[in-house]
Amino acid sequence: MSIVEFKKVVKRFGASTVLDEIDLTIDKGEVVVIVGPSGSGKSTLLRCINVLETIESGDIVVNGLSVRGSGAEVRELRREAGMVFQQFNLFPQLTALENVMFGPVHTRGTARSQAREEARALLDKVGLAEKTDNYPGQLSGGQQQRVAIARALAIRPQLMLFDEPTSALDPELRHEVLKVMQDVAEEGMTMIVVTHEMEFARKVGTRLLFIDQGKISEDGPPNELLSNPPSQRLRDFLQHVS
Ligand code: ADP
Ligand code: MG
Repeated sequence: MSIVEFKKVVKRFGASTVLDEIDLTIDKGEVVVIVGPSGSGKSTLLRCINVLETIESGDIVVNGLSVRGSGAEVRELRREAGMVFQQFNLFPQLTALENVMFGPVHTRGTARSQAREEARALLDKVGLAEKTDNYPGQLSGGQQQRVAIARALAIRPQLMLFDEPTSALDPELRHEVLKVMQDVAEEGMTMIVVTHEMEFARKVGTRLLFIDQGKISEDGPPNELLSNPPSQRLRDFLQHVS
């Protein structure tokens, strides 16, 4: 069953076409890893899914809801997709627990007591049961990113979007974030992950997309594409990231 569908999606910034008639269908439970050169449109593709960017033509449908729909439809669509950014984007003036409670309380209308209980369980799940009352500034980058994952999960999304979630972290902190992402994947979450972590792509990814010049130029099983890249462009790209 498809959960995300791109139909001839075109996205431009001024004169430059960043997404060039993208067609893409993602099924429930897939873990799609997206790679591609800097500036190739990976972040834009993710941002179009939860309508942080608007598209010029075509359509994107998430769980039956269109990005071109009414305001109410778009608000509902946004709740289907949890997003995790490179720079964590936590609220600095809120504790870890309050950060995780924020979405359920403010966008879902969940009672604070229930939101608090669920937030505690989520922070426990990402290994931060001891840090509920800490502010982001009192946490390491890896811990902040795990709070950000818990916060995204708190809205009970159908789909999780990750935009280079480990790129801002020191190498020794990446593992703890990747482990949490693997746990989330193993619970059956549909995920789209922009990353340069090729080991994650091989181990956890069920599908790899190579985006290049506004098009999806490769689409297949991660192990196959990474072990035996079918194009010179992908071979060149992989040499730069590994
Ligand atoms: P990637 O994530 O693959 O590095 P992006 O999706 O961030 O690429 O960007 C794709 C292209 O769109 C780049 O050329 C970038 O400069 C341009 N771009 C991204 N966001 C904007 C924006 N808000 N305004 C103008 N150009 C943008
Ligand atoms: Mg990007």
